Amino acid sequence: MKDENCLFCKIISGDIPSTVVFENDRVFAFKDINPQAPVHIVIVPKDHIACANDITADNSSAAAACFEAIPVIAKELGLKNGYRVINNCGEDGGQSVMHIHFHLIGGKKLSERIV
Ligand code: AMP
Ligand code: ZN
Repeated sequence: MKDENCLFCKIISGDIPSTVVFENDRVFAFKDINPQAPVHIVIVPKDHIACANDITADNSSAAAACFEAIPVIAKELGLKNGYRVINNCGEDGGQSVMHIHFHLIGGKKLSERIV
């Protein structure tokens, strides 16, 4: 459930402070410490899942719970014109924290795109 060495598990438990924007029983969302846009939120499941590669039929509801939180957070933060959701997986994907998370980015017209 919780990984003692995981930065985001420590943020979820409050051992490391964060600016929380949303929380329910399954999901925790906080402001990214190094924002890439006016709005940059990190959305994580409370269950420790390392990366997208570890999603299975047994734990995929944790990822679904994150996606259910997205429109709620987007509305709360006024992202009326849209936004981007990004997941980096593993070394080639550029993942730096091995607790699965979804970046919610917006608040301006996003121009840099690779897909
Ligand atoms: P990724 O590179 O996709 O693994 O994303 C990790 C994200 O976590 C980066 O955008 C970091 O800026 C962010 N981050 C790292 N440490 C913290 C922290 N203590 N509080 C908030 N965001 C963090
Ligand atoms: Zn974790």
